[in-house]
Amino acid sequence: MKKITEIRKDFSILSTSVYGKPLVYLDNAATTQKPSCVIEAMNEVYTEYNANVHRGVHFLSDKASEAYENAREKIRSFLNASQKEEIIFTPGTTGSINLVAYSFGERFVKKGDEIIISTLEHHSNIVPWQMLCDRKGATLKVIPVDDNCRLVFEEYTRMLSKKTRLVAVTQVSNATGVVLPVKEIIEEAHRYNIPVLVDGAQGVQHGMNDVMETDCDFYAFSGHKIYGPAGIGVLYGKREILESMPPFQGGGDMIEKVTFEKTTYNALPFKFEAGTTNFPGAIGLARAIDYLRETGPEYIESLEKDLLGYTWSALSEIPGLKMAGGSVPGVPVFSFNLEGVHHYDAGMVLDKLGIAVRTGNHCAQPLIERLGLDGTIRASLCFYNTREEVDTLIEGINRVRDMFF
Ligand code: PLP
Repeated sequence: MKKITEIRKDFSILSTSVYGKPLVYLDNAATTQKPSCVIEAMNEVYTEYNANVHRGVHFLSDKASEAYENAREKIRSFLNASQKEEIIFTPGTTGSINLVAYSFGERFVKKGDEIIISTLEHHSNIVPWQMLCDRKGATLKVIPVDDNCRLVFEEYTRMLSKKTRLVAVTQVSNATGVVLPVKEIIEEAHRYNIPVLVDGAQGVQHGMNDVMETDCDFYAFSGHKIYGPAGIGVLYGKREILESMPPFQGGGDMIEKVTFEKTTYNALPFKFEAGTTNFPGAIGLARAIDYLRETGPEYIESLEKDLLGYTWSALSEIPGLKMAGGSVPGVPVFSFNLEGVHHYDAGMVLDKLGIAVRTGNHCAQPLIERLGLDGTIRASLCFYNTREEVDTLIEGINRVRDMFF
C-alpha cells in the first residue's frame, strides 16, 4: 500500500501554492485532480499514436482504435457490465443523460406519461427531463425530501404508476453528500417494469460503480470526477433497451450504410457515438481506472472513511456552523453555512488562505431552495486529502468567524 505522501506525489498539482500558501484542494466534487500516469497516457496518444479511430487502415489508426476499444473493455469491467456493447463514450454525465432523455424519450415517452426524479438532483438530471416533458406533453414528478435531505420513500412508491416511463435519480447529492437508497428505488420501479437511470457523477468515485449490484438500466458518469480527463464520460445501458432506442445524433461512425434515400445504422455501441469521439480522453479515463485499481479500492475507501469521520467531528465543534445535510454525509462532502456570514464571503476568505472550496447552489437550485438557503460552503474531500488539510480548513473557518464577529 502506498503511503499518502507517495500518493500525493502522483498528483503534482497538490504541491503547488496559491497566493504564496500551500494549496488545500477541497473541491473534488466539482472536479478531481489527475495523477501523472493519466496525463502521460494522454500525452502518449498525441506524441506516439494519434490517429482517428475506426477509420484508417494504417498502423497508427489501428493502434489508436485498439487502445480506444481496450479502454471500453476496462470501463466494462470496472462497472461490472456484462457486455462491451453496453458502454457508450459520451462527453460526460450531462451528455449521457441528454442522450437517454432524447433517444429513450423519442421512442417511449408520449403525452400524459410521467418521468420521476428527486429533489436532490443536479441541474443535469433535471433540465433534460423538463425539455423532454415539454417536447412530448409529459409530466415531471419530483420525489420530496425531509428537512434532513432524506428522500420521502413512501411518496416515491405512491408516485409510481402505469403512466411512469422512467425514474432518474442521483446516487449521491453533489450539494450535500447525502447518499440515496438507489438499490431500493430500482427494486421498487422494477416491480412495475419501469427502467431507472442512475446519475453516478458523485458515486462512481466512491466505490458505487457496480451496475449489476444495483441492477440499474442506465448509469451515467464523468471522467473528470474520477481522476480522468474532462470532456469524456460514459453511459452504461442494458443492451436490450439500448437496442430499442433510436440514435441520438447523426454523423460518422454511427452509420452502417448511407444513401440519399435511406441510412441504416451501425451496431451498438457505435450507433450512439456519432463523429470523432474523444478517444484520447477515453484512453486517459481507462488509465485513471487502472490507477485506482493499483492503489486499491479498499485502501481508498478506508482513507476516505477516516477523513469523513475526522472532518465531521472537527466541523461539528465549530460554533454557529450548520450542516445543510443534517446528519453525517455518506461520502466526504460537507455542505454548511456559518451563522451571520454569507457563503460567498467565506469562500473568498478561504481562497486567500489557499483553501479551495465551492460556494453557491452547486447546480442544485431546487434543493438549496427546499432547504430554505441561498447557498452553502462545500468542502469535498477524496483519498489524497489529509487530516492536516482538514486542520487548515478548520483554522480557516475560525479565521472567517473572527473576521465577521
Ligand atoms: N450530476 C451530478 C450529481 C453532478 O455532481 C454533476 C457535476 O457536478 C453532474 C451531474 C454533471 O456532470 P458534468 O458536468 O461532468 O457533465
